[in-house]
Amino acid sequence: MSGEKGILYVVATPLGNLADMSRRAMDVLAAADVIAAEDTRLSGRMLAHLGINGGRLVSLHEHNEKVRVRGLVDQLLDGRNVALISDAGTPLISDPGYRLVNAAVAAGVRVSPIPGPSALVAALSVAGLPTDRFVFEGFPPPKQGARSKFFHALREEERTLVFYESCHRIQMSIEDMIEAFGGERQAVIARELTKHYEQIERGTLKELAQWLDTDEDRLRGEFVVILAGAERSAVSAESSYLAHLLDVLVSELPTRQAADLAARISGAPRQHLYREAQRRRQALETRTSRS
Ligand code: SAM
Repeated sequence: MSGEKGILYVVATPLGNLADMSRRAMDVLAAADVIAAEDTRLSGRMLAHLGINGGRLVSLHEHNEKVRVRGLVDQLLDGRNVALISDAGTPLISDPGYRLVNAAVAAGVRVSPIPGPSALVAALSVAGLPTDRFVFEGFPPPKQGARSKFFHALREEERTLVFYESCHRIQMSIEDMIEAFGGERQAVIARELTKHYEQIERGTLKELAQWLDTDEDRLRGEFVVILAGAERSAVSAESSYLAHLLDVLVSELPTRQAADLAARISGAPRQHLYREAQRRRQALETRTSRS
């Protein structure tokens, strides 16, 4: 084992346009001792296009990351430089790599970013919605029930929201967003960014649902959905409505029943309402015992 540890480079690659590959990313990939890639065939083709030797590719994906990490960290400790890439964009952003970076950090290995494309930043930069504060929520859950709950839990979020979505679920996700956030909330669909059929459509959620509906081709490819945050006044109106609803129900019904009914009426998450109902029950009991 040599004294010098290697460096783990986390390298962003293009989302769909090879010309977006940075010169620094090319240099690092050309010089790395090992290139850990999500899909070695896909990355092999990309490297071949760029004239970089793909002979040092090893696979690192969702299903083998746990077992691969030890070997890669050993190589880093042995002085070899490892470059981590994913199929497209920035590794670790809804992509594998977290375990490797975490293990490298724990082993005292230097981890260095080679920044570049990421769909979330690309979409946000052209959305025309506030970018001073935003939250990235990744992929909404694939199952309808969980997805609906997931959106409802975000109803009061005031920051701009960013989601990834696949072509299989984009329509259903927009429908569930309409149900949770209302059809009038402003949003943006960024489709096939940097590719030939790039489209960036802005409008209310209802308008975007119609836009998707009118052309089957719009349902193909990859999507980022950006949603305007809740307006402050709407948040406080909704909070005071929920508070009033719970007060009335808690004064008439047992806590759990009150929370269940409030969840059915408002669509807000039941767990949150149950905690609120418990608080209100305690306050009610304290008031009653004092009088
Ligand atoms: N690591 C990637 C990044 O930095 O953006 C994201 C990987 S994630 C597995 C793939 C998702 O990212 C797609 O389902 C889509 O939501 C989004 N995405 C990736 N490329 C895109 C593109 N060219 N246009 C729009 N969305 C894209």
